[in-house]
Amino acid sequence: MNLVIGLTGGIGSGKTAATNYFEQLGITVVDADLVSRLVVEPGMEALKEIASHFGEDILDADGALNRTALRKIVFDKPEERKWLESLLHPLIAQEIHRQLEASQSPYTILVSPILFESGQNLYCQKSLVIDAPENLQVSRTSVRDSTDEAGVKAIMKVQLSREDRCAKADDVILNDGDLESLHIKIDSIHAKYLKLAEKNV
Ligand code: ATP
Repeated sequence: MNLVIGLTGGIGSGKTAATNYFEQLGITVVDADLVSRLVVEPGMEALKEIASHFGEDILDADGALNRTALRKIVFDKPEERKWLESLLHPLIAQEIHRQLEASQSPYTILVSPILFESGQNLYCQKSLVIDAPENLQVSRTSVRDSTDEAGVKAIMKVQLSREDRCAKADDVILNDGDLESLHIKIDSIHAKYLKLAEKNV
């Protein structure tokens, strides 16, 4: 497998803005969030198991997983949560590995909002945090999702603190300017990763 860089950051820090640009530079991005949705899409074995365990009510009218209903069920039932995690975690890990293996770019980015919390950083040789001051996390997310400040802050509270996340990272990009300045910072780290990738093979 080629060099894998884990990319993470708090809500509204700019993970998507960053990975969009890495893709423009020709780098394959594997998205752990997308993978966790993929494994429970209609037709997938895991969705059938979930429906037979929790009942058909867990599905929408169109047969898709009602994630909100599932989240409510497992919220205060550690046994059910455990059952669900033991079903999904190996499938998610397997699919992430499959996508990482399939990557043809000089190095590959694995983006995950819970890179460190989930242990997905263990699939990566290096980690990169996209960090932003809290006021920018709030204002950017509010504009994007039309959520209010309290909603964004509630999510920030359950995520790793900026300090803890940055302390775990090999590299940190402070996304406190415009998009152009983010791209310039990424250009320089991209050059560094390309050099590292050359040594890796
Ligand atoms: P989430 O974890 O909530 O999915 P994220 O970390 O992926 O968020 P983005 O979606 O990339 O964050 O950024 C949040 C919003 O801020 C988006 O609308 C994005 O276009 C905008 N944004 C990100 N970085 C910048 C920047 N440097 N300048 C201007 N806007 C930015």
